[in-house]
Amino acid sequence: MLISLIAPAYNEEGNIAPFARSAVAAFSDLPEGWACELVFVDDGSRDRTLRAMHEVLEDASVAQSGLMVSVVEFSRNFGKEAALYAGLEHAEGDICVLIDTDMQQPPAIARQMVDILFEDDDLDCVAAYQEHRKRGALRNWCSSTFYRLLGASSGMDVLADASDFRVFRKNVRDALLNMTEYYRFSKGLFSWIGFKTKPFAYVPEDRLSGETTWSFWKLAKYAVNGLMSFSTFPLRIATWLGTGASALAIIYMAVVVFQRLMFGVDVPGYATIVSLVLLLGGLQLLVLGVMGEYLARVYTQGKNRPIYIERSCRSNGDRR
Ligand code: UDP
Ligand code: MG
Repeated sequence: MLISLIAPAYNEEGNIAPFARSAVAAFSDLPEGWACELVFVDDGSRDRTLRAMHEVLEDASVAQSGLMVSVVEFSRNFGKEAALYAGLEHAEGDICVLIDTDMQQPPAIARQMVDILFEDDDLDCVAAYQEHRKRGALRNWCSSTFYRLLGASSGMDVLADASDFRVFRKNVRDALLNMTEYYRFSKGLFSWIGFKTKPFAYVPEDRLSGETTWSFWKLAKYAVNGLMSFSTFPLRIATWLGTGASALAIIYMAVVVFQRLMFGVDVPGYATIVSLVLLLGGLQLLVLGVMGEYLARVYTQGKNRPIYIERSCRSNGDRR
């Protein structure tokens, strides 16, 4: 039986070796009959990340510890979601672990999560979530609003604050691999496929070295992407707006005609007309934009391009 640690990395040269060391330490005392493999995915890093991964692969002490290593290299940066997909495709484990290489998600905690799966045969997935987040009030509010919106609009059971730091069995992996969509949003995918999932509270460490690639705007874009991937409610905004605006227009028209016939009052002036034209024009553009966003996704998916392109793949020895 095999455990696969799937570790995506983008510009993590300083973290790869310490990560591999702590993975070896955490997974060295597995129960009888279990082995562990490490699947590194280099997501088009611009630094020496790939070199560092190959050093782990060639490291005799790592091989001696029984840890098998594979290194998948992308042809360019495709993003973490694509890297996770590639890792899942290359993993052969009966249990898979999705884990960052920046040491924020310590392998020792992954090991505790694996133990939960060992103990409970009926469980399919253990999802780590951050109990206390070290971030500002605005970011907290944005995040919780997003999860509520996603849950409500998609009808899914979304585990708030759960990361993609997860440990799961082969059935979950196969289900994820069957979802071949181009715009990937792991948290949504995990909620969509279901399975028996146990939340597991953990406190993330600080990044060992390097910097996070997530700015506030990148996160916002990711959130919009997540909403659009799992809900069609923005498309329905047009229907509501259109219905509301039409109803108001009919009432207003009746009032104007009535005034004109009964009292001979002129149509009220310029300001009203200009604001209404601008407002309705704006709303129409907004709705067109939302429809365009969905159309663009249909277009991209329609081209059926691969989620990632591999440049090389190396492993040390036979896996299993
Ligand atoms: N990552 C990746 N491709 C990217 C960006 C990030 O594979 O384009 C990896 C990164 O190396 C790390 C993990 O995804 O192992 C999480 O990234 P990061 O630490 O930047 O995100 P945060 O922990 O701040 O959410
Ligand atoms: Mg991180």
